[in-house]
Amino acid sequence: MPQPIIEKARSEGRTVLTEIESKELLKSAGINVIDTRLATSREEAISISRQFGFPVVLKIVSPDIVHKSDAGGVRLGLKTASQVGKAYDQILQAIRQNYPEARIHGVSVQKMARSGVEVIIGMSKDAQFGPVLMFGLGGILVEVLKDVSFRIVPLSRRDAAEMLREIKGYPLLEGYRGGEAVDISYLEELLLKVSNFVEKNPEIMELDLNPIFAYSDGAIAVDARVILEEVK
Ligand code: ADP
Ligand code: MG
Repeated sequence: MPQPIIEKARSEGRTVLTEIESKELLKSAGINVIDTRLATSREEAISISRQFGFPVVLKIVSPDIVHKSDAGGVRLGLKTASQVGKAYDQILQAIRQNYPEARIHGVSVQKMARSGVEVIIGMSKDAQFGPVLMFGLGGILVEVLKDVSFRIVPLSRRDAAEMLREIKGYPLLEGYRGGEAVDISYLEELLLKVSNFVEKNPEIMELDLNPIFAYSDGAIAVDARVILEEVK
């Protein structure tokens, strides 16, 4: 079934979906993402923040900026309306100055999520095997140690269980040294949902849920990025 979000990006000649678009697509597939809304003015950012309740996070929304924090486009833990207003202006100023060509949709507003164990789920396409899912721990563990596991889509229940358990950092998910033990079966279900989503959307070339905060009672993606196949 054609997805309006994908069609809109296509009609604009884009393959990169913004965080807002990516999250909407994932949410409609039953994948738990943090509620995120687009603000196109300072006032709107403040009013959405009030509706969500503080603290909130603001992020640049631009199809030309995929690494938002590197670009100076993410502000965490904003506790008041005036902090939100300032962050809104600062984000736009930084992006306009450093990326004058970037198309800017606005700024996303979301609640600051309570911290959990950071994990990531990604999908990329292998020339031989097609879509492959990746699971790993977030942050430096994945960047430095490359402690990740892979399975070919579609995943079986057993694949999902194995993917979680075969990373070296698995003890961190079980609650290492007083850390929160995360809901493993929730993460297994999440992997299966992502696999299903990928299978149903062959137009997606690349997917990144990075990070997902995993808790003892579930997990939620706070960032998402979808990249579409080039049209041939
Ligand atoms: P990018 O990956 O494009 O730099 P992210 O949206 O992942 O931007 O934000 C950067 C970091 O900020 C994340 O890795 C995460 O640690 C933190 N973060 C992002 N959104 C939230 C949120 N809603 N609540 C708490 N922390 C967040
Ligand atoms: Mg991210």
